[in-house]
Amino acid sequence: MGRILEVRNLSKRFGALWAVRDLSFSVERGSLTALIGPNGSGKSTTFNLICGFLSPDQGEVLFEGHPLSALPPENIARLGIARTFQTPQIFGHLSVLENVLLAIYQRRRPGLWASLARTPGFFREEKRAREEAFGYLEKCSLAEEARKSARDLPLGKLRYLELARALALRPKLLLLDEVASGLSPREKEDLAATLKGLPAEGITLFWVEHDLHLLMGLAERVIVLHQGTKIAEGDPHAIQRHPEVIRVYLGE
Ligand code: ADP
Ligand code: MG
Repeated sequence: MGRILEVRNLSKRFGALWAVRDLSFSVERGSLTALIGPNGSGKSTTFNLICGFLSPDQGEVLFEGHPLSALPPENIARLGIARTFQTPQIFGHLSVLENVLLAIYQRRRPGLWASLARTPGFFREEKRAREEAFGYLEKCSLAEEARKSARDLPLGKLRYLELARALALRPKLLLLDEVASGLSPREKEDLAATLKGLPAEGITLFWVEHDLHLLMGLAERVIVLHQGTKIAEGDPHAIQRHPEVIRVYLGE
């Protein structure tokens, strides 16, 4: 076990606003850890700081014990951190299958693909990539939509496509930013069942979600943010009874 991710005294300011302020926590390898907090409490900013989309004003992020400071997002992704976005980031004009294939190519060494083009090796590699892509599509209940344009998918399927693309990067740590938002209760249950199996496959989950009820049944550990600061941390039962958490969520 041990820590896969460690955030130390992280701060990020937008003008006069501290979106994240002196934030420290860690995520255990193989766990499902939740990050919750009211709107604007700094959850997405924290993800952006971990993935390298934003650079911190202070503090640092360690992944498997190594500081990620100043690494560009592609390099951080290649080290094994993938994420989904609050607004799905897919290529609408491409098919569902092509969206996943792109993630597989992205994971591979850049240049390899180009150098293999039009050689017998290219076709072998492409066949392997397609088989691998179908594996993710099946896991995400998307195999039947493989040839549809991604833009024609309903929201529930789009969220799954984002997940399939993230899995195709073969992450060690997967950051989920409100993947269940906008889904029906039935869709949420299906998605939760898929996600629940991932830690056993070696993928640590760090999950931001608005639906606390959904998270509470799954998370082993919950970190609560309020105005960019950690106000509580513990198992779901303790968190639900935490006076500060109750105060923040009830707005008084
Ligand atoms: P959450 O994901 O918890 O809802 P965010 O991390 O998105 O919160 O935002 C935290 C705070 O930082 C909010 O007040 C938000 O308006 C502000 N914020 C986030 N991103 C930016 C940005 N790029 N520029 C200015 N302010 C931002
Ligand atoms: Mg957010």
